[in-house]
Amino acid sequence: MYQKKDTLYWQNLTRQFLKELQGGAIGVNEIDELRGVLRFHEYRYYVLNDPLLSDYEYDLLYKSLEKIEQQHPSLVTPDSPTQRVAKDLTRDFPTVQHLVPMLSLDNSYNAEDLFDFDRRVKELTGLASVEYCVEPKFDGSSISLIYKNDLLVRAATRGDGLQGDEVTPNVKQIRTVPLSAPFTAQGIEEIEIRGEVLINKENFNRFNDQLLQQGLAPLANPRNAAAGTLRLKDPGEAAKRKLEVFVYHISYTGLAPRATLPAALATHAHSLELLWELGFRSPHLEKKVCKNIDEVIGYCGQYETMRDDLPYEIDGMVIKVNDTRLQEKMGMTSHHPRWAVAFKFKARQATTQLTGVEFQVGRTGAVTPVAKLTPVAVGGVMVSSISLHNQEYIAEKDLRIGDQVLIERAGDVIPQIVKSLGDLRKGKEKKIVFPTHCPICESRLFKEEEEAVWRCINIECPAQVVERIIHFVSKDAMDIRGLGEANIRKFYDEQLLRDIPGIYTFDFAALENKEGFGKKSIENLQTAIAGSKTQPLHRLIYALGIRFVGETTARTLAAAVTHLLDFEKLSLEQLVELEDVGPKVAGSIHDFFSNKENIEMIRTLEKLGLSLRNQKKDTTTSGNLHGKTFLFTGTLPTLKRSAAEEMVRNEGGIVLGGVSAKLDYLVAGEDAGSKLEKAKKINTIRIITEPEFLKLIQP
Ligand code: AMP
Ligand code: ZN
Repeated sequence: MYQKKDTLYWQNLTRQFLKELQGGAIGVNEIDELRGVLRFHEYRYYVLNDPLLSDYEYDLLYKSLEKIEQQHPSLVTPDSPTQRVAKDLTRDFPTVQHLVPMLSLDNSYNAEDLFDFDRRVKELTGLASVEYCVEPKFDGSSISLIYKNDLLVRAATRGDGLQGDEVTPNVKQIRTVPLSAPFTAQGIEEIEIRGEVLINKENFNRFNDQLLQQGLAPLANPRNAAAGTLRLKDPGEAAKRKLEVFVYHISYTGLAPRATLPAALATHAHSLELLWELGFRSPHLEKKVCKNIDEVIGYCGQYETMRDDLPYEIDGMVIKVNDTRLQEKMGMTSHHPRWAVAFKFKARQATTQLTGVEFQVGRTGAVTPVAKLTPVAVGGVMVSSISLHNQEYIAEKDLRIGDQVLIERAGDVIPQIVKSLGDLRKGKEKKIVFPTHCPICESRLFKEEEEAVWRCINIECPAQVVERIIHFVSKDAMDIRGLGEANIRKFYDEQLLRDIPGIYTFDFAALENKEGFGKKSIENLQTAIAGSKTQPLHRLIYALGIRFVGETTARTLAAAVTHLLDFEKLSLEQLVELEDVGPKVAGSIHDFFSNKENIEMIRTLEKLGLSLRNQKKDTTTSGNLHGKTFLFTGTLPTLKRSAAEEMVRNEGGIVLGGVSAKLDYLVAGEDAGSKLEKAKKINTIRIITEPEFLKLIQP
């Protein structure tokens, strides 16, 4: 189990082991310490989000443990870090009985409701004032964890509250769940802990991107993703989704003979701290103990404003009577405990009517159905159309034109249709008919067997050509301002712009007498086009619109070559060796650079003055911010976040994903939230404003 010794102790041991590895191997008599070291680094990485070791070094240590265990199978313990790896691939989920029913929570939506709750609590307890503990309501899937004699023996979903599905192998993949924890030292032989399994927004978005790239339907929200992942038959697949767990309640404790309950369990807040001390991720930093209901209301309001800044979704706050003895006294209904209430944030779901479907042809020829909706506000944003992704998605959700649909927009996630409300149908709803021919060029659509997407394969299809140009000039690609989507469509129709190289031979004189084009705007367009010629290579690669090559892959690719046409020489095997490039992506890149027309176009672009060389190699060792790490929070007065991050990278700096001791600068804008609070606690981090940041860039 993870032991809370000094960081220094583990660090020294780590260094000692790494040294031993250089000289040969780690001895079998050191196996316990080696496990301790690995657990310590898992904890730093997954629970504290503050690693002290590179992935590579961690791997070295992990592999040497694996080797020792292979040579001495009798020394393998069930909680060894190697035992997270799933052995049996497919299995059903046995139904298991919960030790204590897993109830729901009563809901509240405003201050009035919370005052009511406070009144009920005071009536029930006969007290004049009651202390509450307030913490986030994590929007995931609930889980029960049972530890016996310090070992994780069972993990189960909520199910119907009395019985759930046992999902231990999948939960063992979650690195924030310790496989063992020192409960017996606290006098506890058996314990049941409740928590929430979730997937953070970044991993969720990444996962959805992957689904889309494979032509599959994305998931509506992180909650569904977490719930679905827990029930995957293949724990290895579950591991890839990178779930996390927050534990927030101890529901049962079986004490050793003559032992007494640890004093820490007298209040909810202390039990969160105890769990934290024992190596769990509990909301011990996020919680707040409030003296009265006014403080509770204040904290809930404060947290709601930070909602979008959090790395994971929360759908409200949970208010709990802090004194656990009082909790017991108050008891529960068959539905929820009387000592807790959920405060729900404003809904990000809405219902509206699906009024029609448009079929759009993308730059790869993929035909995407897009639902037109009666405009509706969801979490402060008007939504009037939503992608339906593909034919299977429509069938799966059984969508019809005229349906009332439930839509959801989770944080920074693209809005999705959750389901159609079939009960509200009146009988006049129409089936959605997928076209057999391209709505633009009328050539027949094709679908590859293992794909979900229908495609127009006419390479000259005007829709595709136009979309390719639009993508090429877009903000994250070559960023040619003034050549917006509407203009490109117009220029295409007027034969002024028919392909990508045409951007660089554009006849500006033809614009002179056109409506909407003054001298100034023509000049601006000229400058923007000329300026794009020196965009860094990764932008050009992304701009080419190679299938499956997103911005991240484009960066990897750019870093791998010195000249764009080097890709002509790279084999599939060489491509697969690049980070994050799988066989599918490699195949697509290979196809692209094997196509004569593509190569010709690239040569033409070079002749027209575009830089195809990798200039990045120079800037990363000479940039003003070389080696410095940055993180942005809140709204910056003038810069967009993506632009600011780009500036950091261009100057050789690194943008981090979260606050940790590795961070050099936190650039804080307006309404900065939890990141700022966290950064203030680490005194090596410099907190700066946008103007100060700009000075760093251009001293
Ligand atoms: P609901 O599903 O809306 O009835 O809300 C109850 C659920 O909220 C519980 O079953 C838990 O899964 C979940 N939940 C999330 N965060 C917490 C928390 N901090 N404390 C208690 N329950 C939570
Ligand atoms: Zn077409």
